[in-house]
Amino acid sequence: MDRLYKPSKLSEILSKYGFRFTKSLGQNFLIDGNVVRKIADAAEITEDDNVLEIGPGVGTLTEELALRAKKVLAVEIDEKLKELHKETLDIENVKVIYGDFLKIDLDKVLEEEFNGESFKVVANLPYYITTPIIEKLVVSDINLISITVMVQKEVAKRLSAEPGNKDYGSLSVFINYYTDCKYKFQVPQTVFMPRPNVDSAVVTLKMLEREKFDTEFLFKVVRASFTTRRKTILNSLSNSKLNYSKEDIRRALELSNISPTRRAESLKLEEFMVLSINFKSVG
Ligand code: SAM
Repeated sequence: MDRLYKPSKLSEILSKYGFRFTKSLGQNFLIDGNVVRKIADAAEITEDDNVLEIGPGVGTLTEELALRAKKVLAVEIDEKLKELHKETLDIENVKVIYGDFLKIDLDKVLEEEFNGESFKVVANLPYYITTPIIEKLVVSDINLISITVMVQKEVAKRLSAEPGNKDYGSLSVFINYYTDCKYKFQVPQTVFMPRPNVDSAVVTLKMLEREKFDTEFLFKVVRASFTTRRKTILNSLSNSKLNYSKEDIRRALELSNISPTRRAESLKLEEFMVLSINFKSVG
């Protein structure tokens, strides 16, 4: 049987069902078996794993995941793919549900489909909503083990950036709080149909266990610190929406052992955490 990643097979299926790509839904389908296998390898999927895929498209990656996993649950927004899926995803351990991933009641779906068991996310994400999807996954109180996703290369760099790197920003700190994120490999535009205008890359995010923490305030401090990247942390925080006097900011930095002349891009997550705690004692 021909696999869906074969361009001739994919074209045949698409024309059989009269499928038209919707650019606004980020529909760029994979047409390279190597990349499909490399994504599944990076996710370390075994026969014990439940897998959640966001945006199966025709089902190219889904097919590979189904061969390796216990069960694959795929959430697709485009109901025009429903008829086509009856042919491509008529696979025993695959279930497709139709809806907007950002709007579905994740807890309910996971309870129904995985009986609350742990699961991994694997996806070639629609690029227009990469960050909201990852945010929804990491902040939800769900039994998630890891996320392996293909995203725009620039976003992959920001997600996985370390302090001191030019791509390091509030998104990197946020991701670093919830996960251990690793940049895996770059993917050229040529492996998609149609070709996107940007390069892509795959990242893996392994979920971390954290003690209870006031994350709302922590990320307020982080965002405020990065408002003016080129300025010192003292000036950046003083010019931000964070409501503290320059003296209080100076004091909180001192208590945290952070020099006021440093820049936000040099601060590790742990330093931001200490700083956010000390703000509470000076305010
Ligand atoms: N997994 C397929 C592949 O690799 O060939 C398709 C990936 S394509 C980049 C993104 C897919 O996400 C499309 O099928 C698109 O319709 C779907 N999608 C877009 N927005 C979505 C949303 N909010 N919820 C669920 N799926 C969505």
